[in-house]
Amino acid sequence: MDLGIKGRRAIVCAGSKGLGRGCAEALAEAGVDIVLNARGAETLATTANDIEARFGVTVTPVAADITTPEGRAAVLAVAGDVDILVNNAGGPPPGIWSDWTREDFIKALDANMLAPIAMMQACLPGMMARGWGRVVNITSQSVRAPIAQLGLSNSARAGLTGFVAGTARQVAGAGVCINNLLPGLHATDRADALDGAVVRAEGITMDEARARRFANIPVGRYGTRDEFGAMCAFLCSDYAGFIVGQNILLDGGAANITI
Ligand code: NAP
Repeated sequence: MDLGIKGRRAIVCAGSKGLGRGCAEALAEAGVDIVLNARGAETLATTANDIEARFGVTVTPVAADITTPEGRAAVLAVAGDVDILVNNAGGPPPGIWSDWTREDFIKALDANMLAPIAMMQACLPGMMARGWGRVVNITSQSVRAPIAQLGLSNSARAGLTGFVAGTARQVAGAGVCINNLLPGLHATDRADALDGAVVRAEGITMDEARARRFANIPVGRYGTRDEFGAMCAFLCSDYAGFIVGQNILLDGGAANITI
């Protein structure tokens, strides 16, 4: 399927690995040139070279922390006018409600609420002026089905979701569509880290930890970054012009939610 976005330009934040990388690969396959961001320069360069070689598009790496004003400025300076923005960053650590300090909340809000909002505020005016734009925010299934120990994530992502719900309707008339993708458990480093923590805490094997998680996912496995990226690319396609302000869950059926 030709997504109708060949030759367009995208920023993909936090995209050297995992779900962000999946989004960058799927956009590149659709012919989109990419400004690719992550903090670690070496992995980022390897990923950028790999995507360029496989898909024949231009991938420009910008090593920067997207949760800081300086990091965002570095990405935006290289990117110039972009048609597509994929917002992403690492997720906050798990914990318990009684331990979280104001500083913990500020850090989570900076990473998972205020950074994507700042990127949208920077990119939306140009998209609106040009009459076409797509924004996908990677949030979490916890927006629809909060996970108790991920309270920092639940809080920050709820704030972003509220901002998108209003803003998406304000910019849609200018040809700009903003939507959120809500990952359930996917096979990335993040999932490995969460499983590793269970292995250490409970003295079980990795296979046992995985089997436990798979038991709660109706499809019986983790999602893949390719599946996730394909959905992102569709939301960034010309065909997604009637999809506005949605929260789309990709979780293998784990959250039993009817609407
Ligand atoms: P991942 O495999 O750990 O990859 C994270 C990517 O983001 C890496 O490329 C990392 O590179 C980059 N990154 C992290 N912090 C950054 C920062 N401050 N600035 C720029 N780049 C940054 O993680 P993932 O599983 O793809 O998760 C992506 C997001 O989805 C996270 O917010 C996570 O909480 C959420 N999520 C994931 C799952 C899942 O099952 N995987 C489920 C629900 C929600 P550097 O470290 O080099 O910067």
